[in-house]
Amino acid sequence: SEEALRKTEKLAATGRLAASIAHEINNPLEAITNLLYLLSTHPELDDTARSYVDMAVHELRRISEITQQTLRFYRQSTLPANASCAELLDSVLSLHQVRLRNRGIQVEKKYDPDTELYCFAGELRQVFANLIGNAIDAMQEGGRLALRARRSREWKGAGRSGIRIQVADTGEGMMPEVQLHIFEPFFTTKEAIGTGLGLWVSSEIVAKHKGTIRVRSRAARLGGGHGTIFELFFPHETELPTSPEAEPRHVVASEGVSVH
Ligand code: ADP
Repeated sequence: SEEALRKTEKLAATGRLAASIAHEINNPLEAITNLLYLLSTHPELDDTARSYVDMAVHELRRISEITQQTLRFYRQSTLPANASCAELLDSVLSLHQVRLRNRGIQVEKKYDPDTELYCFAGELRQVFANLIGNAIDAMQEGGRLALRARRSREWKGAGRSGIRIQVADTGEGMMPEVQLHIFEPFFTTKEAIGTGLGLWVSSEIVAKHKGTIRVRSRAARLGGGHGTIFELFFPHETELPTSPEAEPRHVVASEGVSVH
């Protein structure tokens, strides 16, 4: 619809603005990091002063993480190639082994034998890392993380053929008013630890692969408490952009998503 299109364009413009700001911030940030390094190794610095410098470096790293995340999507360092979605999911999972065990989160995997996809593997991995990281954040008291990767049609029996991915958790879920904004840059409900960039970057990467991303979720407060399911679809036989200027053709936002 007209309004959906306007919203998509606005989001894309916001994204470009965010990326250019991130780029501008990056250079002075690197300069400050170098200066702080010199300061921290200065022989006349006492322990208290050094601990202040360490704190400053720590906070700086946080800013740097935000700008790097923003820029990552717009940088294109590698060429597309075939990669197994199941292997990408597993490689993200292995990074989280300790956190999963400590929280008592059970992992349940169902992969089809062949989940190969022509893609930018590093970017897809980033999407899976964002979704799995969010799922773990949502299950503070433990729960179940279910990962699926299947060869499938886009919708029941029809549409393009490709790979369907599901990342499902039994965590706290989302209120409808939260769900409306999750794909917008800088939207977060995690005051201290969130950047609000994970799902925005993810939706841009999915759009670049001509795929779709959908979410179903319900907060426990609304009598649901079934957690959250993110579902991705990536089509086979996609032409992928190989020039850095290439723009994603569409962004799939959270509109039209059914809430169960
Ligand atoms: P961040 O994780 O840094 O906040 P994201 O863009 O990844 O940024 O997510 C935006 C928001 O979407 C989160 O702050 C959270 O409110 C909500 N969210 C995302 N995934 C989940 C999930 N699996 N369960 C509950 N809420 C989620």
